[in-house]
Amino acid sequence: MKTATATVSLSALQYNLQQVKRLAPHSRILAIVKANGYGHGMLQVAEAVQPYADGYGVARLAEALALREQGIEKPILLLEGFFSADDLPHLITHNIETVVHSEYQLQALEQALKSALLDRKIKVWLKIDSGMHRLGVSLAEVDAFYQRLQCCPNVQPQINFVSHFSRAEELQCGYSEIQLQRFQQACSDKDGERSLAASNGILYWQASHFDWVRPGIILYGISPTNDQLATEYGLQPAMTFSSSLIAVREHPAGEPIGYGGAWLSPKDTKIGVVALGYGDGYPRDVPAGTPVLINGKRVPIVGKVSMDMITVDLGADSRAQVGDEVIFWGKDSQHNVLPIEEVARHIGVISYELVTKLTPRVIMEYR
Ligand SMILES: *Cc1c(COP(=O)(O)O)cnc(C)c1O
Repeated sequence: MKTATATVSLSALQYNLQQVKRLAPHSRILAIVKANGYGHGMLQVAEAVQPYADGYGVARLAEALALREQGIEKPILLLEGFFSADDLPHLITHNIETVVHSEYQLQALEQALKSALLDRKIKVWLKIDSGMHRLGVSLAEVDAFYQRLQCCPNVQPQINFVSHFSRAEELQCGYSEIQLQRFQQACSDKDGERSLAASNGILYWQASHFDWVRPGIILYGISPTNDQLATEYGLQPAMTFSSSLIAVREHPAGEPIGYGGAWLSPKDTKIGVVALGYGDGYPRDVPAGTPVLINGKRVPIVGKVSMDMITVDLGADSRAQVGDEVIFWGKDSQHNVLPIEEVARHIGVISYELVTKLTPRVIMEYR
């Protein structure tokens, strides 16, 4: 019997990247595959989208090295840059591009020459803090950083620019206009390529597309917010997360279920037990009533999520049987859909968190 399985459609990934190209036709695409390709399998994702991606974005050197080891040859950018001067030889050897957001990184690049470490030049993207105030060089420091980078013999002469929106899905808040304006201003007199838009910028802020867009969540066919479904943007959800019923039990009214006895059935019913739990990455804290899909019907989770199992209230008249497929998000073989955005809304998390939490125990299948 099938246990917790993530089925990933490679053609959906390819379709979504082509959809990004339609949304941002004048931009190149940096496909964001960090965090194991948002739980979809970094290497499989990178290979599938290779024909449509102009490069890849990752968050850790180890991710970049794994892509190179797999034979990926397109540009790879470290979105947070390198974390230590010891990383620089790897960037050189494997031709990995880096963000620079802090003085310590700039100093490491300046001093690399002295150690005669570097014989090839590194491609640098200067991170500008346009208002997120997480990473990046403040507007007042951009020119000084830029000049020092240009003086680094180890740095390629054309320096690119990158920044990140903090409220791009809040269309009316006015903040994205400010970030856009600051970003444009900061690089107006410089000739490097520019990148501001992640998924929400691609969907909502055409003026932010510039030279490179950085699609993460929409590449996987997931909306960046819970209020909208990715399908409303013409995207195809790539992952189905599913398992099977391993028991169907008669359950009398008034009896509790599971750890802590937190849920009491108000009526006689049938309880289904599913082979999937927080040990597979499904959140432990989900409100009773969070839906799963069984034989095309939404059925509520009841009782606490356990490490390896979840209990659902099938209802007294249910004809569900041991072995039936249970969809936690995605679609079943009859094309009945439980959108991940709906599940995320119930649980009170963002879909990003659901997909990146999948554990190594989950069986990955690619179609
Ligand atoms: C993760 C990340 C992205 C992708 O964000 P999505 O919202 O998933 O599209 C883009 N840019 C940077 C700098 C990131 O860290």
